[in-house]
Amino acid sequence: MIILLISLGLLISTSLRAAPPSADDLAFRAVYKELVEINTTLSGGSCTVAAHAMADQLRASGIEDADIHIIVAPEWPEQGNLVAILHGSSPDNESILLLAHIDVVEANRADWERDPFTLIEEDGYFFGRGTADDKSMAAIFVDVMKGLSESKFPLSRNVKLALTCGEETPNTFNGASYLIQHHRELIDASFALNEGGGGRLDSAGKPLYNGIQAGEKLYQDYQFEVRNPGGHSSRPRADNAIYQLAAALERVSQHAFPIEFNSTTRGFFARMAKLTAEPQVATDMIEILTTPPNSEALARMTKIPSYNSILHTTCVTTLVTAGHAKNALPQRASANVNCRIFPGNTPEEIRLALEQVVNDAGVVITFAAPPEKTSPPPALTADILGPIEALTEQMWPGVPVIPSMIAGGTDGRFLTPAGIPTYGVSGLFTQPNEVNAHGLNEKVLVKSLYDSRKFLEQLVKLYAGWPAQDTE
Ligand SMILES: [Zn+2]
Repeated sequence: MIILLISLGLLISTSLRAAPPSADDLAFRAVYKELVEINTTLSGGSCTVAAHAMADQLRASGIEDADIHIIVAPEWPEQGNLVAILHGSSPDNESILLLAHIDVVEANRADWERDPFTLIEEDGYFFGRGTADDKSMAAIFVDVMKGLSESKFPLSRNVKLALTCGEETPNTFNGASYLIQHHRELIDASFALNEGGGGRLDSAGKPLYNGIQAGEKLYQDYQFEVRNPGGHSSRPRADNAIYQLAAALERVSQHAFPIEFNSTTRGFFARMAKLTAEPQVATDMIEILTTPPNSEALARMTKIPSYNSILHTTCVTTLVTAGHAKNALPQRASANVNCRIFPGNTPEEIRLALEQVVNDAGVVITFAAPPEKTSPPPALTADILGPIEALTEQMWPGVPVIPSMIAGGTDGRFLTPAGIPTYGVSGLFTQPNEVNAHGLNEKVLVKSLYDSRKFLEQLVKLYAGWPAQDTE
């Protein structure tokens, strides 16, 4: 294993190697290290400890106590959140919100090659739980707030920071949704920057595109349930709960929800067509955007899971429970059908559609969990996109900005429907499958992280009224 690691290290192309860190990089690195090394898992960690540590960092930069809020829900003492505010000259509702979560997915030391709660720099990477998801962004935003505070430059709008807990375990507690419900005035903003976007490198380490996430699909689980009087298995009857459920699930598997587009996905396909190496896929990306879409192109595109997932609502059976004894006819059969709903459709509309597809009143379809609010994706206006495109061109000349809609999963799904349009943008460039967020040995390229810090710092400054600066 050691030999393998060394050879992998040697394989990192020189373009991925970081230049010697600047004094600013090192100051940021200290914040990042402190944050990564505080265990914030649900099982044994504490976001509250991390929130206090970051509050101390902000206080040291001159942000006053009155503008730093540690928010802890009474029932969840270790799920603390932090909000900090830098005041600008515009009204509060024109604020910009920097949102990042500080909780992390569980990490078992025995399974990891290195201690997950020690920041280890090795072979051009930072290793550790949360190095990417999402303590990279959380530490960068703390560093940005510190820099703005220390510079004393007059801001044209408030810059707010929200570090939240429970993004990874929202069924227990979710800080973003808690803040919306209980402290809306603290985080109110005209838009928010969040995780969910990032840049892509090719296999040689060259930047391909800088992704900006605008909108996500809505996550909804449905319970399918069939009941039956059952009986002795030696005397099978015509109706059977398991067969009835299986037939319903089979119909769901054969059903394709209608194709839909929005401005984000249209922008994604139009721009990705220019970057896609396979000529057929590139042509199909253009032809599905015609009115009406080319049906053959659509048929091919829906066979590619990553594109299929953003072309329409998808539903798939993920769990089945049925029967109660090997020698009895089943009295009950149920399944979980997991849907990722295209923005704009309500969970109830999809539930009714599933009832039609199944076409069997004996199969009862209900929400497995209360539905979340849905909304169309946040608009990619020139005010939002302009600074991102200008800065991307400055730092990575010729690299396009690509909008994307993801198949669900960030705190943006709470903020956008609540009226704070939330965009995923980081300028953090990674290779496909490199980051390993949620998995073992999570890591991030040192050079990418330092570049992301520079990118986000400049981006926040542009949004907050600073003149454009030379990033070199
Ligand atoms: Zn995350």
